Amino acid sequence: MSVVQSTSPQNPTDLVVTVAEATGSDVDQAVRRARQAQRAWAAAPPAERAAALHGAGEAVAAAADELATLVVREVGKPRAEAVGEVARSVAILRYYAQQVFDPIGALHEPSSGGRGLAYTRRRARGIAALITPWNFPLAIPLWKAAPALAFGNAAVIKPAPQATACALRLAELIEPHLPDGLLAVLPGDAEAGQAVVAAGDVVSFTGSAAVGSLVASAAAGRGVATQCEMGGQNPTIVMPDVDVAAVARQVAYAAFGYAGQKCTATKRVIVVGDPAGFTEALVAATEALGLGDPADPATGVGPVIDQAARDRVLDAAASARASGGRVLTGGHPGPGAGWFVAPTLVDNLPADHLLLREEVFGPICAVSRAGSIAEAIDAANDVRYGLTASVFTNDLDTALRCADGLAAGQIKINAPTTGVDFYLPFGGERDSSFGQREQGKAAQEFYTSLHTVTTAVAPT
Ligand code: NAD
Repeated sequence: MSVVQSTSPQNPTDLVVTVAEATGSDVDQAVRRARQAQRAWAAAPPAERAAALHGAGEAVAAAADELATLVVREVGKPRAEAVGEVARSVAILRYYAQQVFDPIGALHEPSSGGRGLAYTRRRARGIAALITPWNFPLAIPLWKAAPALAFGNAAVIKPAPQATACALRLAELIEPHLPDGLLAVLPGDAEAGQAVVAAGDVVSFTGSAAVGSLVASAAAGRGVATQCEMGGQNPTIVMPDVDVAAVARQVAYAAFGYAGQKCTATKRVIVVGDPAGFTEALVAATEALGLGDPADPATGVGPVIDQAARDRVLDAAASARASGGRVLTGGHPGPGAGWFVAPTLVDNLPADHLLLREEVFGPICAVSRAGSIAEAIDAANDVRYGLTASVFTNDLDTALRCADGLAAGQIKINAPTTGVDFYLPFGGERDSSFGQREQGKAAQEFYTSLHTVTTAVAPT
């Protein structure tokens, strides 16, 4: 029997959970139970579905402290952010509990005129196969499962192995509010993920671009609705007219909060004009972020998820040095036995360096310079990703040019690249995303299919 284990990134000898990996027959069985439960669930009155999701939200709220502690322990998320993630999880469940009552179609004039009706109507798709990463171990499973359930589907979740305990505890809290078998969590990695994808009537994936493209081909090849939310290489443009110290504090947190392990983390800072003043402020703001035990409320930067992640960041810093770049701060492991890396800022990189082109998922960020806003927008867009992008400026024309010209699904003006509102559609451009947006009002469209109904008066 294969097992899935997760260990605490700040204390790798702390084994958080060991469970059996879901086998093919476990997946089949869970899907059979889910399918049976889903038929009655889709036909249940909307108020019943709303009450169930509301009850699930209250159960998560009642366990807030315990869940935040588990998030800190299992994925090394700093306490303040873990507390925020739990609050957001509750808000997601409450929000979709209300969306149950949204219109499910539109009424049209019948083409024949006179009496009769033409209308569209949304119906649940069936089994929602949900593949999730470890970095938002509660919020991402929920921002997929809550709308899937709200609109009458069953949800089968394959969580990331590194976040297995969080997913299992979440399911324990929510399941009592739902019909038996409607929600399943199947621990495992690629093999279990493939089996879950193969069973879905609709597939939603969040994770790396490499795995997302495999999932997209497998699911789209079966003709089922598929969305993949993947990595980013998110730029922030800084104009010379800003309050340097205040903006530097926001950019430093966007690059290094939760050790840069957010898909929306700032990976490139493009300073328009002379970068010296802003770079100096950014180094100071970076060094002021607390690096250490994520359970400490003052910590902003905890460990990265595992040894491989730490090696990737340290290797990228070494490669920056080797290609003539300057490491402005960081570039070395942090203190203690956990997977800590000092937040690392580099500049002077050649244009084709990894750190200007690919996602290195950890606390490392590159600073570069542009001569004008047009040049900055071109540089910002010169990657294969397009998840989020931001600009800091006091000039309206510059803000509007960026809103228009940045190739990203989420554009922030005078705000960090990080931060996603669960009630707004979210997704990227290019290799950051495949398929429809998720969250907000976009979710109903994804988790339902649209039927057109034409009724006429019986012929005589
Ligand atoms: P990952 O791609 O390694 O794994 C994601 C999930 O896919 C896990 O559950 C994993 O077990 C599963 N998986 C692996 N191989 C599979 C296969 N062949 N078929 C089906 N499932 C498979 O990603 P990760 O390390 O867990 O997460 C980090 C990545 O997620 C980063 O690239 C980050 O940018 C991205 N991310 C994106 C968003 C977004 O909304 N765009 C949000 C959070 C994280």
